[in-house]
Amino acid sequence: MKHFSGLICWTSVRPALFHIFLLFGLFGIFCGTGIAQKLAITFDDLPLNGLLPPGVTRVETTKNVLEILKKRHVPPVYGFINAKKLEGNADGAEALKLWAAAESVGNHTYSHMDLEQNAPEAFEREIEEDEPVLELLNLELLKEDAKDTWHWFRYPYLHEGDTVEKRRAVRAYLKTHGYSIAQVTLDWEDYLWNTAYARCVAKNDTKSIDWLRSSYLSTASEFLDLGREQAKLIYGREISYVLLMHLGAYSSTILPDVLDLLKKKGFKLVTLEEAESDVAYESDPDVGLHDAGTLLDQWMQVKGIKYPEHAEKPYKEIESICQ
Ligand SMILES: [Zn+2]
Repeated sequence: MKHFSGLICWTSVRPALFHIFLLFGLFGIFCGTGIAQKLAITFDDLPLNGLLPPGVTRVETTKNVLEILKKRHVPPVYGFINAKKLEGNADGAEALKLWAAAESVGNHTYSHMDLEQNAPEAFEREIEEDEPVLELLNLELLKEDAKDTWHWFRYPYLHEGDTVEKRRAVRAYLKTHGYSIAQVTLDWEDYLWNTAYARCVAKNDTKSIDWLRSSYLSTASEFLDLGREQAKLIYGREISYVLLMHLGAYSSTILPDVLDLLKKKGFKLVTLEEAESDVAYESDPDVGLHDAGTLLDQWMQVKGIKYPEHAEKPYKEIESICQ
């Protein structure tokens, strides 16, 4: 009450000034003018998603991506690892060491297990099996002062459980074992372009490579906008976003364009930790869902919200190109 009467008193002295401040303040808060939307980039399926063109190595692909991230001053990026891909693969192991020297690593299960096809117990073993490599990369290799930063978990296929029992069981396991869930809120299924690009490069088909670029960027643009619309429909506001990408043949070629696009759309790049500190990520739909997609897609289903109109991804064209 005291504050209130003080305010009244002050406003009576300086009414015009007060109203100007109030107006601009509210405008800034509610309209978000000039405030860049936060976004964290993440990469899945390290050391490699999809196929590579002949003669291209994992080390090369990883090195190129890391150089772009550094050159463009992108805050630390999490790479989610499937340790099974390192078995008998020196190129992959070397690529991962390079990644871990520059960026962060997180758990994506040992062999990219699908929770919809497996019991929670088997899935939990896979989480555990991925840990020795993460520990090694994070603690022993190159980051002497590194704290435990690898306890971030990304669900393969974004499948969080087709039954609520599975969902709850794995979530409880993750919590007990100190993991945070690296939820995804923006995704244009970039992995579709990785193997297609590898095929087109192998055939030296420049016309198709041009199409891959234009279709990639128009799809990315469409689904960035869609994600933001979804957030507004679900939370009544924009949130800090987490973007899912996959490290593969096309990553380093298209990444500069992706970074330009994100900038053009007004995103400010932040770390995963910062993006996921948004309270939106504390929400849990807590239901069993089949192939449910991002956290935003899950909420759309649970709340029965109709999707805004949007163009679909060119699945068929990508599948058949350069075959
Ligand atoms: Zn994956």
